[in-house]
Amino acid sequence: MKKKNNYFDVVIIGGGVVGCAIARELSKYKVNVAVLEKEDDVGWGISCRNSGVVHAGFNNKPGTLMAQFCVEGNKSFAELCRQLDVPCKKIGKLVVAKKKEEIKGLQKLKQQGDTNGVDDLQIIDLNEVKRLEPNVSGIAALYSPKTAITSPYLLTIALAENALNNGVFFFLNTQVKNIARLNNSHFRIKTNKREFTSSYVINSAGLYADKIARMVGIKKYHLYPCRGEYHILDKNVSWLISHLVYPVPQAGSGGLGIHITPTIDGNILVGPSNEYIRKKNDLSTTSQIMKMLSAEVREFLPLISPGYIIRSYSGLRAKQAPSSEGGFWDFVIEESDTVDNFINLIGIESPGLTAAQPIAQRVVEIINKKERLNLNSSFNPFRKGILRFEEQDEETKKTLIKQDPDYGEIVCRCEKVTKKEILEAANNPLGARSLISIKYRTRAMMGRCQGGYCQTRIIEILRESFKLSPQEITLKGNNSYLLTGYRSNKENESCKKEKLSLLEEGLLV
Ligand SMILES: Cc1cc2nc3c(=O)[nH]c(=O)nc-3n(C[C@H](O)[C@H](O)[C@H](O)COP(=O)(O)OP(=O)(O)OC[C@H]3O[C@@H](n4cnc5c(N)ncnc54)[C@H](O)[C@@H]3O)c2cc1C
Repeated sequence: MKKKNNYFDVVIIGGGVVGCAIARELSKYKVNVAVLEKEDDVGWGISCRNSGVVHAGFNNKPGTLMAQFCVEGNKSFAELCRQLDVPCKKIGKLVVAKKKEEIKGLQKLKQQGDTNGVDDLQIIDLNEVKRLEPNVSGIAALYSPKTAITSPYLLTIALAENALNNGVFFFLNTQVKNIARLNNSHFRIKTNKREFTSSYVINSAGLYADKIARMVGIKKYHLYPCRGEYHILDKNVSWLISHLVYPVPQAGSGGLGIHITPTIDGNILVGPSNEYIRKKNDLSTTSQIMKMLSAEVREFLPLISPGYIIRSYSGLRAKQAPSSEGGFWDFVIEESDTVDNFINLIGIESPGLTAAQPIAQRVVEIINKKERLNLNSSFNPFRKGILRFEEQDEETKKTLIKQDPDYGEIVCRCEKVTKKEILEAANNPLGARSLISIKYRTRAMMGRCQGGYCQTRIIEILRESFKLSPQEITLKGNNSYLLTGYRSNKENESCKKEKLSLLEEGLLV
Protein backbone atom coordinates (compact mmCIF):
# COMPACT_ATOMS: atom_id res chain seq x y z
CA MET A 1 0.00 0.00 0.00
CA LYS A 2 1.47 3.37 -1.03
CA LYS A 3 1.07 7.07 -0.22
CA LYS A 4 0.82 9.97 -2.72
CA ASN A 5 0.32 13.60 -1.64
CA ASN A 6 -3.02 13.81 0.15
CA TYR A 7 -3.66 10.14 -0.41
CA PHE A 8 -3.49 7.69 2.51
CA ASP A 9 -4.17 3.97 2.49
CA VAL A 10 -6.20 4.38 5.64
CA VAL A 11 -7.83 7.46 7.17
CA ILE A 12 -8.95 7.13 10.78
CA ILE A 13 -11.59 9.65 11.83
CA GLY A 14 -11.20 10.39 15.55
CA GLY A 15 -8.15 10.63 17.79
CA GLY A 16 -9.68 9.13 20.91
CA VAL A 17 -8.15 6.18 22.74
CA VAL A 18 -9.67 3.80 20.18
CA GLY A 19 -8.62 5.75 17.06
CA CYS A 20 -5.08 6.13 18.46
CA ALA A 21 -4.91 2.42 19.38
CA ILE A 22 -5.96 1.56 15.81
CA ALA A 23 -3.31 3.94 14.45
CA ARG A 24 -0.62 2.27 16.56
CA GLU A 25 -1.80 -1.22 15.62
CA LEU A 26 -1.75 -0.30 11.90
CA SER A 27 1.76 1.15 12.25
CA LYS A 28 2.97 -2.41 12.84
CA TYR A 29 2.39 -2.85 9.07
CA LYS A 30 3.57 -1.07 5.93
CA VAL A 31 0.49 1.11 5.58
CA ASN A 32 0.15 4.88 5.21
CA VAL A 33 -2.20 6.08 7.86
CA ALA A 34 -3.67 9.47 8.75
CA VAL A 35 -5.65 10.29 11.89
CA LEU A 36 -8.04 13.25 11.53
CA GLU A 37 -9.06 14.82 14.82
CA LYS A 38 -11.31 17.86 15.11
CA GLU A 39 -9.89 19.05 18.45
CA ASP A 40 -6.54 20.68 19.20
CA ASP A 41 -5.17 17.46 20.74
CA VAL A 42 -5.94 13.76 20.95
CA GLY A 43 -8.20 12.29 23.63
CA TRP A 44 -10.48 15.26 24.27
CA GLY A 45 -13.70 13.38 23.45
CA ILE A 46 -14.96 10.58 25.68
CA SER A 47 -11.42 9.32 26.30
CA CYS A 48 -10.37 11.99 28.80
CA ARG A 49 -13.69 12.00 30.69
CA ASN A 50 -14.13 8.60 32.26
CA SER A 51 -13.25 6.69 35.43
CA GLY A 52 -9.86 5.41 34.21
CA VAL A 53 -10.72 1.86 35.28
CA VAL A 54 -9.22 -1.20 33.61
CA HIS A 55 -12.24 -3.43 34.05
CA ALA A 56 -11.81 -7.16 34.64
CA GLY A 57 -14.81 -8.18 32.48
CA PHE A 58 -17.49 -9.52 34.85
CA ASN A 59 -20.02 -6.77 34.06
CA ASN A 60 -20.51 -7.75 30.44
CA LYS A 61 -22.91 -10.26 28.96
CA PRO A 62 -21.15 -13.53 28.02
CA GLY A 63 -20.66 -14.01 24.30
CA THR A 64 -20.52 -10.28 23.50
CA LEU A 65 -17.56 -8.43 22.00
CA MET A 66 -17.68 -6.23 25.12
CA ALA A 67 -17.02 -9.24 27.36
CA GLN A 68 -14.38 -10.79 25.11
CA PHE A 69 -12.41 -7.58 24.49
CA CYS A 70 -12.69 -6.41 28.08
CA VAL A 71 -11.16 -9.62 29.43
CA GLU A 72 -8.46 -9.61 26.72
CA GLY A 73 -7.80 -5.90 27.27
CA ASN A 74 -7.44 -6.36 31.02
CA LYS A 75 -4.96 -9.20 30.57
CA SER A 76 -2.72 -7.30 28.15
CA PHE A 77 -3.09 -3.83 29.73
CA ALA A 78 -0.06 -3.87 32.02
CA GLU A 79 2.24 -4.86 29.16
CA LEU A 80 0.78 -2.15 26.89
CA CYS A 81 1.39 0.43 29.63
CA ARG A 82 4.92 -0.85 30.18
CA GLN A 83 5.73 -0.41 26.49
CA LEU A 84 4.23 3.07 26.40
CA ASP A 85 5.49 4.29 29.79
CA VAL A 86 1.97 4.89 31.09
CA PRO A 87 1.01 4.29 34.75
CA CYS A 88 -1.23 1.34 35.58
CA LYS A 89 -1.91 -0.18 39.01
CA LYS A 90 -3.80 -3.36 39.82
CA ILE A 91 -5.56 -2.20 42.99
CA GLY A 92 -8.59 -4.50 42.88
CA LYS A 93 -12.29 -3.76 43.10
CA LEU A 94 -15.09 -4.46 45.56
CA VAL A 95 -18.71 -4.58 44.42
CA VAL A 96 -20.41 -4.04 47.74
CA ALA A 97 -23.82 -5.33 48.80
CA LYS A 98 -25.53 -3.01 51.30
CA LYS A 99 -28.41 -5.37 52.09
CA LYS A 100 -29.14 -9.11 51.99
CA GLU A 101 -31.22 -8.96 48.79
CA GLU A 102 -28.20 -7.69 46.87
CA ILE A 103 -26.07 -10.78 47.58
CA LYS A 104 -27.84 -12.61 44.73
CA GLY A 105 -26.60 -9.82 42.45
CA LEU A 106 -23.02 -10.49 43.58
CA GLN A 107 -23.38 -14.19 42.82
CA LYS A 108 -24.76 -13.40 39.37
CA LEU A 109 -21.83 -11.11 38.63
CA LYS A 110 -19.35 -13.75 39.78
CA GLN A 111 -20.97 -16.39 37.59
CA GLN A 112 -20.92 -14.02 34.62
CA GLY A 113 -17.27 -13.22 35.27
CA ASP A 114 -16.35 -16.92 35.56
CA THR A 115 -18.07 -17.58 32.22
CA ASN A 116 -16.22 -14.66 30.61
CA GLY A 117 -12.86 -16.02 31.83
CA VAL A 118 -12.16 -13.46 34.57
CA ASP A 119 -9.63 -14.93 37.04
CA ASP A 120 -9.73 -15.02 40.84
CA LEU A 121 -13.20 -13.54 41.52
CA GLN A 122 -14.27 -14.15 45.08
CA ILE A 123 -17.32 -13.38 47.21
CA ILE A 124 -16.16 -12.08 50.59
CA ASP A 125 -18.04 -11.61 53.86
CA LEU A 126 -18.46 -8.60 56.14
CA ASN A 127 -15.20 -9.24 58.05
CA GLU A 128 -13.17 -9.43 54.88
CA VAL A 129 -14.84 -6.27 53.51
CA LYS A 130 -13.90 -4.47 56.75
CA ARG A 131 -10.34 -5.81 56.56
CA LEU A 132 -9.87 -4.60 52.99
CA GLU A 133 -11.80 -1.33 53.35
CA PRO A 134 -12.32 -0.30 57.01
CA ASN A 135 -14.22 2.90 56.05
CA VAL A 136 -16.73 1.24 53.73
CA SER A 137 -20.18 0.11 54.90
CA GLY A 138 -21.55 -3.12 53.43
CA ILE A 139 -22.40 -6.68 54.36
CA ALA A 140 -20.58 -8.63 51.62
CA ALA A 141 -18.76 -7.98 48.36
CA LEU A 142 -17.51 -9.43 45.13
CA TYR A 143 -13.73 -9.00 45.16
CA SER A 144 -11.98 -8.66 41.82
CA PRO A 145 -8.20 -8.48 42.33
CA LYS A 146 -7.51 -8.04 38.58
CA THR A 147 -9.30 -4.69 38.22
CA ALA A 148 -6.78 -1.89 37.70
CA ILE A 149 -6.56 1.88 37.22
CA THR A 150 -4.72 3.94 34.63
CA SER A 151 -4.50 7.46 33.23
CA PRO A 152 -6.89 7.55 30.26
CA TYR A 153 -5.43 10.73 28.78
CA LEU A 154 -1.79 9.68 29.16
CA LEU A 155 -2.63 6.38 27.50
CA THR A 156 -4.30 8.12 24.55
CA ILE A 157 -1.37 10.52 24.16
CA ALA A 158 1.13 7.66 24.43
CA LEU A 159 -0.67 5.55 21.80
CA ALA A 160 -0.72 8.56 19.47
CA GLU A 161 2.94 9.45 20.05
CA ASN A 162 4.04 5.87 19.49
CA ALA A 163 1.97 5.63 16.30
CA LEU A 164 3.47 8.95 15.14
CA ASN A 165 7.02 7.68 15.80
CA ASN A 166 6.17 4.63 13.71
CA GLY A 167 5.04 6.71 10.74
CA VAL A 168 1.37 7.62 11.28
CA PHE A 169 0.36 11.21 10.33
CA PHE A 170 -1.81 13.16 12.76
CA PHE A 171 -3.92 16.11 11.60
CA LEU A 172 -5.31 18.01 14.58
CA ASN A 173 -7.95 20.74 14.35
CA THR A 174 -9.19 18.83 11.31
CA GLN A 175 -12.90 18.22 11.31
CA VAL A 176 -14.41 15.85 8.75
CA LYS A 177 -17.32 17.59 7.04
CA ASN A 178 -18.19 15.33 4.17
CA ILE A 179 -17.16 12.00 2.62
CA ALA A 180 -17.69 10.94 -1.00
CA ARG A 181 -16.93 7.67 -2.73
CA LEU A 182 -14.90 8.18 -5.94
CA ASN A 183 -15.26 5.57 -8.73
CA ASN A 184 -16.18 3.01 -6.14
CA SER A 185 -12.50 2.69 -5.19
CA HIS A 186 -11.40 5.71 -3.16
CA PHE A 187 -12.91 7.99 -0.58
CA ARG A 188 -12.67 11.75 -0.81
CA ILE A 189 -12.79 13.23 2.68
CA LYS A 190 -13.50 16.93 2.99
CA THR A 191 -12.45 18.66 6.19
CA ASN A 192 -12.45 22.23 7.47
CA LYS A 193 -8.82 22.43 6.30
CA ARG A 194 -8.01 20.26 3.30
CA GLU A 195 -9.16 17.28 1.32
CA PHE A 196 -7.86 13.73 1.77
CA THR A 197 -8.30 10.63 -0.34
CA SER A 198 -7.98 7.11 0.98
CA SER A 199 -8.69 3.47 0.21
CA TYR A 200 -10.12 2.81 3.68
CA VAL A 201 -12.00 4.94 6.17
CA ILE A 202 -12.19 3.93 9.80
CA ASN A 203 -15.01 5.68 11.56
CA SER A 204 -13.84 5.98 15.16
CA ALA A 205 -15.56 9.26 15.96
CA GLY A 206 -16.98 8.21 19.33
CA LEU A 207 -20.30 9.90 20.03
CA TYR A 208 -20.35 11.31 16.47
CA ALA A 209 -19.76 7.99 14.68
CA ASP A 210 -23.45 7.83 13.64
CA LYS A 211 -23.07 11.25 11.99
CA ILE A 212 -19.91 10.17 10.13
CA ALA A 213 -21.66 6.96 8.94
CA ARG A 214 -24.53 9.06 7.58
CA MET A 215 -22.03 10.98 5.41
CA VAL A 216 -21.72 7.84 3.23
CA GLY A 217 -25.42 6.99 3.39
CA ILE A 218 -25.36 4.55 6.35
CA LYS A 219 -28.40 5.56 8.37
CA LYS A 220 -28.94 2.58 10.65
CA TYR A 221 -26.89 3.79 13.65
CA HIS A 222 -28.09 6.19 16.33
CA LEU A 223 -26.01 7.28 19.28
CA TYR A 224 -27.57 8.89 22.33
CA PRO A 225 -25.47 10.97 24.74
CA CYS A 226 -25.79 9.72 28.31
CA ARG A 227 -24.03 12.02 30.75
CA GLY A 228 -22.03 10.92 33.75
CA GLU A 229 -21.08 13.60 36.28
CA TYR A 230 -18.25 13.22 38.78
CA HIS A 231 -16.79 14.88 41.87
CA ILE A 232 -12.99 14.89 42.24
CA LEU A 233 -11.75 14.71 45.84
CA ASP A 234 -8.56 16.25 47.16
CA LYS A 235 -5.44 14.08 47.32
CA ASN A 236 -5.17 14.61 51.07
CA VAL A 237 -8.14 12.26 51.60
CA SER A 238 -6.75 9.45 49.44
CA TRP A 239 -6.53 7.37 52.66
CA LEU A 240 -10.34 6.95 52.61
CA ILE A 241 -10.20 3.87 50.35
CA SER A 242 -7.56 1.77 48.64
CA HIS A 243 -9.72 -0.30 46.26
CA LEU A 244 -12.37 0.64 43.72
CA VAL A 245 -15.71 0.50 45.50
CA TYR A 246 -18.86 -0.09 43.42
CA PRO A 247 -22.52 -0.73 44.23
CA VAL A 248 -24.35 -3.76 42.84
CA PRO A 249 -25.43 -2.64 39.32
CA GLN A 250 -29.13 -2.10 38.62
CA ALA A 251 -30.63 -3.86 35.58
CA GLY A 252 -31.46 -1.43 32.74
CA SER A 253 -29.13 1.28 34.06
CA GLY A 254 -26.87 2.91 31.48
CA GLY A 255 -23.91 2.80 33.86
CA LEU A 256 -22.42 0.70 36.66
CA GLY A 257 -23.77 2.84 39.50
CA ILE A 258 -22.20 5.65 41.54
CA HIS A 259 -18.79 4.32 42.50
CA ILE A 260 -15.74 5.52 44.36
CA THR A 261 -12.57 5.30 42.32
CA PRO A 262 -9.03 6.02 43.44
CA THR A 263 -7.24 7.62 40.49
CA ILE A 264 -3.73 6.76 39.40
CA ASP A 265 -2.66 10.24 40.60
CA GLY A 266 -3.97 9.86 44.14
CA ASN A 267 -7.33 11.63 43.97
CA ILE A 268 -10.67 9.90 44.46
CA LEU A 269 -13.53 10.14 41.95
CA VAL A 270 -17.15 9.94 43.01
CA GLY A 271 -19.59 9.15 40.19
CA PRO A 272 -20.60 8.91 37.45
CA SER A 273 -24.31 9.64 37.28
CA ASN A 274 -26.33 8.28 34.42
CA GLU A 275 -28.60 10.67 32.57
CA TYR A 276 -29.70 10.69 28.94
CA ILE A 277 -29.45 14.26 27.62
CA ARG A 278 -30.29 15.93 24.31
CA LYS A 279 -27.07 17.59 23.20
CA LYS A 280 -23.87 15.73 22.32
CA ASN A 281 -21.70 18.59 23.53
CA ASP A 282 -23.36 19.33 26.86
CA LEU A 283 -20.64 18.66 29.43
CA SER A 284 -22.28 20.64 32.22
CA THR A 285 -22.31 19.60 35.82
CA THR A 286 -25.52 20.29 37.68
CA SER A 287 -26.18 21.08 41.32
CA GLN A 288 -28.98 18.50 41.45
CA ILE A 289 -26.69 15.62 40.36
CA MET A 290 -23.81 16.90 42.49
CA LYS A 291 -26.04 16.69 45.58
CA MET A 292 -27.27 13.24 44.56
CA LEU A 293 -23.67 11.96 44.14
CA SER A 294 -22.73 13.14 47.61
CA ALA A 295 -25.81 11.57 49.18
CA GLU A 296 -25.45 8.20 47.40
CA VAL A 297 -21.78 7.84 48.12
CA ARG A 298 -22.25 8.54 51.80
CA GLU A 299 -24.23 5.30 52.04
CA PHE A 300 -20.96 3.45 51.31
CA LEU A 301 -18.50 5.88 52.73
CA PRO A 302 -20.04 7.85 55.61
CA LEU A 303 -16.78 9.75 56.22
CA ILE A 304 -17.01 11.63 52.92
CA SER A 305 -17.57 15.37 53.28
CA PRO A 306 -18.36 18.14 50.71
CA GLY A 307 -15.20 19.99 51.82
CA TYR A 308 -13.09 17.28 50.16
CA ILE A 309 -14.37 18.15 46.66
CA ILE A 310 -11.94 20.17 44.52
CA ARG A 311 -13.71 20.00 41.16
CA SER A 312 -16.49 18.37 39.19
CA TYR A 313 -16.66 17.27 35.55
CA SER A 314 -18.75 15.13 33.25
CA GLY A 315 -18.33 12.66 30.39
CA LEU A 316 -20.77 11.49 27.74
CA ARG A 317 -21.44 7.83 26.99
CA ALA A 318 -22.09 6.94 23.33
CA LYS A 319 -25.22 4.84 23.88
CA GLN A 320 -26.85 2.76 21.19
CA ALA A 321 -29.70 1.79 23.54
CA PRO A 322 -32.37 4.52 23.65
CA SER A 323 -33.35 5.95 27.04
CA SER A 324 -36.60 3.92 26.98
CA GLU A 325 -34.50 0.73 27.06
CA GLY A 326 -31.26 1.66 28.86
CA GLY A 327 -28.59 -0.95 29.55
CA PHE A 328 -25.72 -1.87 27.23
CA TRP A 329 -25.82 -2.87 23.55
CA ASP A 330 -22.76 -4.67 22.25
CA PHE A 331 -19.90 -2.86 20.45
CA VAL A 332 -20.34 -2.70 16.66
CA ILE A 333 -17.01 -3.16 14.88
CA GLU A 334 -17.66 -4.02 11.26
CA GLU A 335 -17.02 -3.19 7.65
CA SER A 336 -20.16 -1.67 6.18
CA ASP A 337 -22.20 -4.10 4.09
CA THR A 338 -23.16 -1.28 1.73
CA VAL A 339 -19.93 0.76 1.47
CA ASP A 340 -16.79 -1.33 0.86
CA ASN A 341 -13.70 -0.48 2.92
CA PHE A 342 -15.69 1.70 5.33
CA ILE A 343 -15.24 0.36 8.86
CA ASN A 344 -17.60 1.52 11.60
CA LEU A 345 -16.98 1.52 15.34
CA ILE A 346 -20.31 2.23 16.97
CA GLY A 347 -21.35 2.40 20.61
CA ILE A 348 -17.83 2.17 22.04
CA GLU A 349 -18.92 2.94 25.57
CA SER A 350 -17.48 1.39 28.74
CA PRO A 351 -15.32 -0.77 28.75
CA GLY A 352 -13.93 0.91 25.61
CA LEU A 353 -10.83 2.22 27.39
CA THR A 354 -9.95 -1.25 28.71
CA ALA A 355 -10.76 -2.85 25.37
CA ALA A 356 -9.05 -0.27 23.11
CA GLN A 357 -6.18 -2.55 22.09
CA PRO A 358 -8.26 -5.66 21.28
CA ILE A 359 -10.75 -3.42 19.41
CA ALA A 360 -7.84 -2.05 17.36
CA GLN A 361 -6.57 -5.55 16.68
CA ARG A 362 -10.03 -6.55 15.40
CA VAL A 363 -10.08 -3.57 13.00
CA VAL A 364 -6.64 -4.46 11.65
CA GLU A 365 -7.78 -8.09 11.24
CA ILE A 366 -10.67 -6.88 9.03
CA ILE A 367 -8.25 -4.96 6.76
CA ASN A 368 -5.60 -7.67 6.84
CA LYS A 369 -8.04 -10.29 5.62
CA LYS A 370 -8.61 -8.22 2.47
CA GLU A 371 -5.14 -6.76 1.91
CA ARG A 372 -2.59 -9.19 3.39
CA LEU A 373 -0.57 -6.37 4.91
CA ASN A 374 3.24 -6.55 5.07
CA LEU A 375 4.82 -6.21 8.49
CA ASN A 376 6.72 -3.02 9.28
CA SER A 377 10.06 -4.48 10.40
CA SER A 378 11.14 -1.16 11.95
CA PHE A 379 8.08 -0.89 14.24
CA ASN A 380 9.21 0.15 17.71
CA PRO A 381 6.62 -0.62 20.41
CA PHE A 382 8.32 1.55 23.03
CA ARG A 383 7.72 5.19 23.87
CA LYS A 384 9.08 7.29 26.74
CA GLY A 385 6.84 9.70 28.64
CA ILE A 386 7.77 12.88 30.51
CA LEU A 387 9.86 12.14 33.60
CA ARG A 388 7.93 13.08 36.76
CA PHE A 389 10.42 14.93 38.95
CA GLU A 390 8.29 14.53 42.07
CA GLU A 391 8.34 10.73 41.78
CA GLN A 392 12.17 10.51 41.84
CA ASP A 393 14.27 9.82 44.95
CA GLU A 394 16.26 12.67 46.53
CA GLU A 395 19.59 11.69 44.93
CA THR A 396 18.07 11.53 41.43
CA LYS A 397 16.36 14.89 42.01
CA LYS A 398 19.70 16.50 42.88
CA THR A 399 21.37 15.01 39.79
CA LEU A 400 18.52 16.16 37.57
CA ILE A 401 18.73 19.74 38.88
CA LYS A 402 22.49 19.74 38.25
CA GLN A 403 21.92 18.53 34.70
CA ASP A 404 19.15 21.02 34.02
CA PRO A 405 18.25 23.87 36.41
CA ASP A 406 14.69 23.92 35.00
CA TYR A 407 14.10 20.85 37.20
CA GLY A 408 14.82 23.10 40.17
CA GLU A 409 11.89 25.42 39.49
CA ILE A 410 8.52 24.19 40.76
CA VAL A 411 5.80 25.81 38.65
CA CYS A 412 2.70 23.98 39.91
CA ARG A 413 2.92 23.82 43.71
CA CYS A 414 -0.07 21.53 44.28
CA GLU A 415 1.14 18.79 41.92
CA LYS A 416 4.84 19.73 42.19
CA VAL A 417 5.42 20.07 38.46
CA THR A 418 8.71 21.62 37.35
CA LYS A 419 9.44 24.08 34.57
CA LYS A 420 11.32 21.32 32.76
CA GLU A 421 8.16 19.16 32.63
CA ILE A 422 6.09 22.09 31.36
CA LEU A 423 8.63 22.69 28.60
CA GLU A 424 8.73 19.01 27.66
CA ALA A 425 4.94 18.93 27.51
CA ALA A 426 4.82 22.03 25.34
CA ASN A 427 7.37 20.41 23.01
CA ASN A 428 5.30 17.24 22.57
CA PRO A 429 5.64 15.46 19.22
CA LEU A 430 1.98 16.05 18.28
CA GLY A 431 2.53 19.82 18.48
CA ALA A 432 -0.43 20.52 20.79
CA ARG A 433 0.48 23.53 22.92
CA SER A 434 -2.66 24.78 24.64
CA LEU A 435 -2.91 24.95 28.44
CA ILE A 436 -5.19 21.89 28.49
CA SER A 437 -2.62 19.88 26.50
CA ILE A 438 0.01 20.83 29.07
CA LYS A 439 -2.35 20.02 31.92
CA TYR A 440 -3.09 16.49 30.67
CA ARG A 441 0.60 15.80 30.07
CA THR A 442 1.96 17.09 33.37
CA ARG A 443 -0.95 17.45 35.89
CA ALA A 444 -0.10 21.14 36.31
CA MET A 445 -3.38 22.99 37.14
CA MET A 446 -5.01 19.74 38.34
CA GLY A 447 -4.34 20.19 42.05
CA ARG A 448 -6.30 21.78 44.86
CA CYS A 449 -5.89 25.36 43.58
CA GLN A 450 -6.87 24.33 40.03
CA GLY A 451 -4.27 26.53 38.39
CA GLY A 452 -4.80 29.61 40.59
CA TYR A 453 -1.06 29.74 41.26
CA CYS A 454 0.55 28.22 38.16
CA GLN A 455 -1.63 29.13 35.20
CA THR A 456 -0.15 32.61 34.69
CA ARG A 457 3.35 31.22 35.25
CA ILE A 458 2.80 28.59 32.56
CA ILE A 459 1.56 31.28 30.18
CA GLU A 460 4.75 33.23 30.89
CA ILE A 461 6.92 30.16 30.19
CA LEU A 462 5.11 29.58 26.88
CA ARG A 463 5.45 33.25 25.96
CA GLU A 464 9.16 33.36 26.73
CA SER A 465 10.25 29.95 25.48
CA PHE A 466 8.29 29.83 22.25
CA LYS A 467 8.28 33.58 21.51
CA LEU A 468 4.49 33.55 21.50
CA SER A 469 2.50 36.72 21.77
CA PRO A 470 -0.12 36.69 24.55
CA GLN A 471 -2.85 36.51 21.92
CA GLU A 472 -1.48 33.20 20.61
CA ILE A 473 -1.87 31.32 23.90
CA THR A 474 -5.13 29.39 24.20
CA LEU A 475 -6.84 27.31 26.84
CA LYS A 476 -7.82 24.53 24.43
CA GLY A 477 -6.99 25.61 20.88
CA ASN A 478 -9.29 27.21 18.32
CA ASN A 479 -10.73 30.46 19.67
CA SER A 480 -10.22 29.83 23.37
CA TYR A 481 -7.89 32.81 23.82
CA LEU A 482 -7.03 33.87 27.34
CA LEU A 483 -5.35 37.23 26.81
CA THR A 484 -5.94 40.17 24.52
CA GLY A 485 -2.44 41.65 24.52
CA TYR A 486 -0.13 43.89 26.53
CA ARG A 487 -1.20 46.92 28.52
CA SER A 488 0.44 50.15 27.42
CA ASN A 489 2.55 52.06 30.01
CA LYS A 490 -0.19 54.71 30.08
CA GLU A 491 -2.79 52.07 30.97
CA ASN A 492 -0.49 50.62 33.63
CA GLU A 493 -0.03 54.06 35.22
CA SER A 494 -3.76 54.77 35.30
CA CYS A 495 -4.38 51.28 36.76
CA LYS A 496 -1.81 51.96 39.53
CA LYS A 497 -3.50 55.30 40.32
CA GLU A 498 -6.91 53.66 40.45
CA LYS A 499 -5.58 50.98 42.85
CA LEU A 500 -3.95 53.62 45.08
CA SER A 501 -7.14 55.62 45.40
CA LEU A 502 -9.12 52.46 46.21
CA LEU A 503 -6.52 51.58 48.88
CA GLU A 504 -6.76 55.07 50.35
CA GLU A 505 -10.55 54.81 50.51
CA GLY A 506 -10.18 51.45 52.25
CA LEU A 507 -12.09 49.73 49.43
CA LEU A 508 -9.13 47.50 48.58
CA VAL A 509 -7.04 45.62 51.12
C1 LIG B 1 -18.64 8.54 32.26
C2 LIG B 1 -17.82 7.48 31.56
C3 LIG B 1 -17.04 6.59 32.31
C4 LIG B 1 -16.30 5.61 31.66
N1 LIG B 1 -15.48 4.81 32.41
C5 LIG B 1 -14.73 3.88 31.78
C6 LIG B 1 -13.82 3.08 32.52
O1 LIG B 1 -13.62 3.30 33.71
N2 LIG B 1 -13.16 2.09 31.88
C7 LIG B 1 -13.34 1.84 30.56
O2 LIG B 1 -12.76 0.88 30.06
N3 LIG B 1 -14.14 2.63 29.81
C8 LIG B 1 -14.83 3.65 30.38
N4 LIG B 1 -15.62 4.46 29.65
C9 LIG B 1 -15.68 4.27 28.21
C10 LIG B 1 -14.48 4.87 27.47
O3 LIG B 1 -14.18 6.14 27.97
C11 LIG B 1 -14.84 4.96 25.99
O4 LIG B 1 -15.26 3.71 25.55
C12 LIG B 1 -13.65 5.38 25.13
O5 LIG B 1 -13.03 6.52 25.64
C13 LIG B 1 -14.15 5.65 23.72
O6 LIG B 1 -13.08 6.10 22.96
P1 LIG B 1 -13.30 6.57 21.47
O7 LIG B 1 -11.96 6.77 20.89
O8 LIG B 1 -14.22 5.61 20.79
O9 LIG B 1 -14.14 7.92 21.57
P2 LIG B 1 -13.62 9.42 21.79
O10 LIG B 1 -12.61 9.51 22.84
O11 LIG B 1 -14.83 10.27 21.92
O12 LIG B 1 -12.89 9.75 20.43
C14 LIG B 1 -13.59 10.13 19.27
C15 LIG B 1 -12.87 11.32 18.67
O13 LIG B 1 -13.47 11.65 17.42
C16 LIG B 1 -13.37 13.04 17.26
N5 LIG B 1 -14.34 13.44 16.24
C17 LIG B 1 -15.69 13.41 16.32
N6 LIG B 1 -16.24 13.87 15.17
C18 LIG B 1 -15.20 14.20 14.35
C19 LIG B 1 -15.12 14.74 13.03
N7 LIG B 1 -16.20 15.06 12.32
N8 LIG B 1 -13.88 14.94 12.49
C20 LIG B 1 -12.76 14.64 13.20
N9 LIG B 1 -12.80 14.15 14.45
C21 LIG B 1 -13.99 13.92 15.02
C22 LIG B 1 -13.68 13.58 18.65
O14 LIG B 1 -13.21 14.90 18.83
C23 LIG B 1 -12.98 12.56 19.54
O15 LIG B 1 -11.69 12.98 19.92
C24 LIG B 1 -16.36 5.48 30.26
C25 LIG B 1 -17.12 6.39 29.51
C26 LIG B 1 -17.83 7.40 30.15
C27 LIG B 1 -18.59 8.40 29.34
